[in-house]
Amino acid sequence: MLKLESVSTYYGNIQALKEVSLSINEGEIVALIGANGAGKSTTLMSICGVTPPRKGRVLFEGEDITHLSSEKIVALGINQVPEGRRIFPYLTVRENLDMGAFLRKSKTEVQRDLEYVFELFPRLAERRHQQGGTLSGGEQQMLAISRALMSRPKLLLLDEPSLGLAPILVQQIFKIIRQINRDNNTTIFLVEQNANLALKTAHKGYVMETGRVTLYDTAENLLNNEEVKKAYLGGA
Ligand code: ATP
Repeated sequence: MLKLESVSTYYGNIQALKEVSLSINEGEIVALIGANGAGKSTTLMSICGVTPPRKGRVLFEGEDITHLSSEKIVALGINQVPEGRRIFPYLTVRENLDMGAFLRKSKTEVQRDLEYVFELFPRLAERRHQQGGTLSGGEQQMLAISRALMSRPKLLLLDEPSLGLAPILVQQIFKIIRQINRDNNTTIFLVEQNANLALKTAHKGYVMETGRVTLYDTAENLLNNEEVKKAYLGGA
């Protein structure tokens, strides 16, 4: 479904991604793990058109999307939930969700999806008239994921969904990530510093170090890999 072929991305003269290649099949949850600054966020931004690669190609359902605008990429069915959530703080929960659905034509389907996200996150249903900025960190993360879902993405890109959340909420968010994948066959590409939880959630995973992919395997094998355990799973 998604393929990166030798993608190199730069910030000015700084090369953040060095010939990154990876592939994601339809219906999979794929985790991308690595230390701070390894290039995980840049990988997501290279897919969704925010920092287009200087070299290499990004293919989505066989189409070369390397140099398409972010708007076109969203229209093709890729939606990113960026790190730090970035919901609209002065819009209500409901208005934020409507923004997510702005490209959709069928009101009935949008209504159905609204009911679906309110089922996933009953907290948001209770707070639908409240301004986004007044929600707690966890609720804002729920809203950011829900807003992305309202565009009915084929591929959902999640950047650090666990960041800054209390442990109990982190467990809940990851359970819901699995549920979204199961319910809608939504393909999910998950960037996480919490490698343990990410690999327990994903089907397969990639490990990144200083801009390169250094390991690729099933999530189960990565969880049992001695190097991964030492470097990313607290030696457990
Ligand atoms: P984190 O979890 O901290 O976000 P990451 O693995 O997502 O880490 P990136 O944010 O992709 O890493 O950063 C990759 C490299 O690119 C780092 O060396 C970082 O300093 C650099 N970088 C990121 N954004 C910029 C920018 N806007 N300008 C210059 N360099 C940047």
